[in-house]
Amino acid sequence: MADVPSARSVPEELLPGNEVALRLITRAASSGRISNAYLFKGPKGSPKDLIARRFASVLLCESDSESGRACGVCRSCRLLAAGEHPDFYLAEKEGASIKIRKSHEMLREALLRPYQSSRKVFLISDADDMTIEASNALLKILEEPPPYVTFLLTTSNPGAIPDTILSRCQVVPVRALSPAALRQLLSDEGADPQRAGEIAELSGGNLERARKMLRGEGKFQRGAERLEEILSSSPVEAAQKCSKMDLSQRLDFVDDLEIELVRRLRSSEGPAASYLEALKAVLKARERLSKNVNAFLVFAVLFVDLSRVLKHTTVT
Ligand SMILES: [Zn+2]
Repeated sequence: MADVPSARSVPEELLPGNEVALRLITRAASSGRISNAYLFKGPKGSPKDLIARRFASVLLCESDSESGRACGVCRSCRLLAAGEHPDFYLAEKEGASIKIRKSHEMLREALLRPYQSSRKVFLISDADDMTIEASNALLKILEEPPPYVTFLLTTSNPGAIPDTILSRCQVVPVRALSPAALRQLLSDEGADPQRAGEIAELSGGNLERARKMLRGEGKFQRGAERLEEILSSSPVEAAQKCSKMDLSQRLDFVDDLEIELVRRLRSSEGPAASYLEALKAVLKARERLSKNVNAFLVFAVLFVDLSRVLKHTTVT
């Protein structure tokens, strides 16, 4: 899911370390020289979509946007904030990928002139999740884009985007949020400030994970339960059970384990070295799962490792 639940523009002070990206937006807006495609790349959970979204709002704003900020009050700004701007198109994955249907929709949209603003903006969130067919169809638009369109692609895995697409994008590096900025952002989104602070620390500056943790209160509990369940059953049986889940459930499962292990590590009680080793095993499993390695094998190896490392530790 894209990290853009709110359409508000993020205040600049919440994006320390991202001056390069913000400057690029300002420069593009004030010079009026806008490329047809940009790629916002940064680590998982970094504010790529927030910054891309901010750029979109500047491109679509109808008042003089030389400052690199959208006015927030014109018709375009209001339509965008309401999720109803006719010249803004958001492509996100459905299930595990962004499918060719989306590319065809974008192709059709791109051929129609903008309706409200002077440009048409397409935001493709996690563009590395496009299927090959979807990428190929997108490439057709990027090869000869109508002058009024701008594509904003975001990714934490640029290696998975075809070179033919990469070479047509201006790359904008995005850095992770600091815990302080993340805490502020979560509070602004309505989270209890103390809770926001705890989660900002635990999530390691990862916005997506922090939001997921906030949504799933009781998640700590679930991670602990899952860990206990693994340790009290046979690794093979537990792995068989887990391999029946779909990809996003599998990733949620290892997320829960990761959160619980990080919590234990930070509580500075118990055998930190064991928790660290367990955490490494979880991260390795997560990487393999997202590369579509056989899920049963990944879980079996993980659970054997966890049993070996954690069997004699007590829960703190
Ligand atoms: Zn405006």
